[in-house]
Amino acid sequence: MAVQRVWDYLPEYAEEREEILAAVDRVFSSGVLVLGDGVRSFEEEFARYHGAAHAVGVDNGTNAIKLGLQALGVGPGDEVITVSNTAAPTVVAIDALGAVPVFVDVREDDFLMDTDQVAAAVTDRTKVLLPVHLYGQCVEMAPLKRIARRHGLAILEDCAQAHGARHHGEIAGSMGEASAFSFYPTKVLGAYGDGGAVVTSDTRLDEGLRRLRFYGMRPGRYYTWETPAHNSRLDEVHAEILRGKLSRLDSYIAGRRAVARRYEEGLAGTGLELPRTAPGNEHVYYVYVVRHPERDRIMEALEEHGISLNISYPWPVHTMEGFGRHGYTTGDLPVTEKVADTIFSLPMYPSLPRSAQDRVIDALRTVVDRL
Ligand SMILES: *Cc1c(COP(=O)(O)O)cnc(C)c1O
Repeated sequence: MAVQRVWDYLPEYAEEREEILAAVDRVFSSGVLVLGDGVRSFEEEFARYHGAAHAVGVDNGTNAIKLGLQALGVGPGDEVITVSNTAAPTVVAIDALGAVPVFVDVREDDFLMDTDQVAAAVTDRTKVLLPVHLYGQCVEMAPLKRIARRHGLAILEDCAQAHGARHHGEIAGSMGEASAFSFYPTKVLGAYGDGGAVVTSDTRLDEGLRRLRFYGMRPGRYYTWETPAHNSRLDEVHAEILRGKLSRLDSYIAGRRAVARRYEEGLAGTGLELPRTAPGNEHVYYVYVVRHPERDRIMEALEEHGISLNISYPWPVHTMEGFGRHGYTTGDLPVTEKVADTIFSLPMYPSLPRSAQDRVIDALRTVVDRL
């Protein structure tokens, strides 16, 4: 029996192979292998999808956050308010600038940033609010916007898990000064390798970002080094593949929602706590996170059924060794820590076969019933 994993791209590749190979061939035959028409067109199309003026393709989501913060003026010692219940790269990006991550806790019902705690976390050193639209739904933005306006702060949205998600009708990535996206293969819009983008409608930020991803040079003025920076370009091949996939993004999201609905029906009444969509949100289900006090026993038993589940995320960032120098310890963010001990994620991707999903539902029902 094949092991069912939480994510798999092979069914999608089987369906889209011709188009993807044609995209690769278009790039290889074009005569321009770096920052050519593929990146330019993808940037225009991705910006348009968000109703934004600009999108800047970069090499991955971590650098999208880092360059976004840098373009907003974040440097050593500046504070960025975010959450610890996130993928480590959110915090890696802050750390890479010598800036200081300041964590607020999450809400117990939807695991998103507890915006009631943000005002008290603002200090003279705060520069940016960095909400993470986690698992596929958006953080409550109205209170963040109020706090940002009052204190003159910028908002950078971490949209790595929320391509196409909406909040009171507004699309994720259009609600702050800038937003950072990842196209890591598992994401709702995924490349066939690494990629990322920063979306903004601020022309000054756009210019800064184009320099920051290109050694600090202004496009068109080569060999003039204006700003200390690295190389973080989006690869032309991935941009061309992403263009085709962007045209199908809404149907990928519809596929994810169909999988979520099926879980909701199949797992009702089991005692598993299923994901809750916060008011005003349209969820895109990057991951399908459920909760149960006997999480570890359930995961072990599912493994015996040939179903390999995942935890997003088992160890809150503030408790990890690598972030120790920021002075947080276990106990500082009680809800985040409690959530991390009880959540786990079920297989979720738009091409998940129905039969495979039924197998997961049946196994879960059997296992949870016997606890
Ligand atoms: C995936 C992810 C990132 C990092 O993206 P990469 O492309 O892997 O660098 C950052 N933040 C969140 C919330 C993510 O899920």
